[in-house]
Amino acid sequence: MPELPEVEITARLIGAAVVGAEIESALAPGINALKTFDPPLTALAGHRIERIGRRGKLFVIELDGDLAIEIHLMSAGRLQLFETPASLRDRTSRFLLRLTGGRELRLREFGTRQRAWVKVLRFADVDEEETIASLGPEAWPEPPSFADLLDQPRPLYALLRDQHVIAGVGRSWVDEILHAAMISPFKRGSDLDSDEADRLREETVCVLGGALTHYESTLSLPIPDKLPMPLTVHRRNGEPCPRCGDQLEAVFYEDYVMCYCPTCQTEGKLLKDRRLSRLLK
Ligand SMILES: [Zn+2]
Repeated sequence: MPELPEVEITARLIGAAVVGAEIESALAPGINALKTFDPPLTALAGHRIERIGRRGKLFVIELDGDLAIEIHLMSAGRLQLFETPASLRDRTSRFLLRLTGGRELRLREFGTRQRAWVKVLRFADVDEEETIASLGPEAWPEPPSFADLLDQPRPLYALLRDQHVIAGVGRSWVDEILHAAMISPFKRGSDLDSDEADRLREETVCVLGGALTHYESTLSLPIPDKLPMPLTVHRRNGEPCPRCGDQLEAVFYEDYVMCYCPTCQTEGKLLKDRRLSRLLK
């Protein structure tokens, strides 16, 4: 699942390769992938890519002539650059930008659900677009004080992933951040003392920045279908904690899993497994 570090590295690598490239044509083969109709897709032809930026977990491709393309990967999308146009049989294609010279920038989505989306906007309207306008401050590189930001009676596991509260963190990196800060995922934001709030902010910056540094030294184009994420806690339940060596535990939800170290984060307490408690009802 692409989160801030994965979107940032993709924007940097692909951005460096396509800046200045001219769009020959744009296609949206995905069902409902394109969420806007004005400006139309045909308006993109002939424009040049000036920059690929990131807002939270979204891409903003800036074009000359006051145009921009916003892309949300959702949970299973990838933005990739190919040297040749897509085969019609590539059923993962949701949105294609054909570049003069034969290269193609492609939004692909793996899995059965089609949820990734694209909006074509006037660049001047990007900040007012509803998803972007609703984003909280960026989680990296310099988020504001967490004491104020997270002062809500909701568990940190939910708060940190709420893009309206803070932008960029999802299910994978939240486990790593909370483990690094040695704080329980179920602790409420409003119950953080000022040391914990500072530590959590520091670890958020450090964990996301560390992931990005890792990608910068290990990744190059082409971006692989599955990014090798340097996770040490997420989905590692049953394995030893990288800090204390005790066993990492998990809470299972409908379609995802939250991992933590009881020794480092919950004073040894095992958090309730939602899946089991439902079965036992
Ligand atoms: Zn531990």
